[in-house]
Amino acid sequence: MVEFTIKPLKVAEIRAPIGVGMMLHDMTQTVDAPVFVWYIEGGREKILVDAGVGDPPKENPLEFSVRGGGERGLRNALEGVNTSPEEIDILILTHLHFDHVAFAKLFKNSRIYVQREEWEAALNPLPTSRPLYDRRLIDPLERLDLVPVEGDWEVSTGLKLLHLPGHTEGMQGVVVSTRLGKAVLASDLCYTYMNLNSPFPHTPFYPIGIYTDLRKWFDSVWKVVRTTTDRKLIYPGHDPTLEDKTLPEEE
Ligand SMILES: [Zn+2]
Repeated sequence: MVEFTIKPLKVAEIRAPIGVGMMLHDMTQTVDAPVFVWYIEGGREKILVDAGVGDPPKENPLEFSVRGGGERGLRNALEGVNTSPEEIDILILTHLHFDHVAFAKLFKNSRIYVQREEWEAALNPLPTSRPLYDRRLIDPLERLDLVPVEGDWEVSTGLKLLHLPGHTEGMQGVVVSTRLGKAVLASDLCYTYMNLNSPFPHTPFYPIGIYTDLRKWFDSVWKVVRTTTDRKLIYPGHDPTLEDKTLPEEE
């Protein structure tokens, strides 16, 4: 049995209105959140989840701003674990928003996993999602070793893709076998632990502010919760408490 460890590597900080992370909340105040790529160690292959962030999109109605990042930010983060984009064997793209896909074009020697539904949605997005997909970042993927996946999919022993629509039409999380059990990289299904552990009694989870289907979003969060034995093994996509951690943490 493979037992992986997971390192969230911060490549940048992104600033967005509070309401982006918390449905129907303040759109006048902003919050800073880390942008991670996730390095998965313990197998024979070098595995990375997501591909960094560059400049915010040109059409930017939510006024995202990015500090750090770029190709340099990604390379520095990977140098911290003694590797580079060119050495990665498996790249998993959880979805194709600009802050998850930006430097995928550098992964010339990787098998790159993305849900087919996400690929199609990125080429023809819902109007409200248009500013989040940048074709200049996505089109270069056509020339790489892209593996379009439909639904849940085992990549290798102990590493599985979990189809989690709701935030986007074809988002996927990653189930990782660890010494404490199955961990789930939930990506933007939950930006932070607040989305997973609702502060309000009327709802078990508190939605993010960017979604394509809220009912599918709830179903996907339940699917993640059912996949692991311990909610502490669910890792949200942009939670500041995960910076510099090696996961799973000791009990
Ligand atoms: Zn996203």
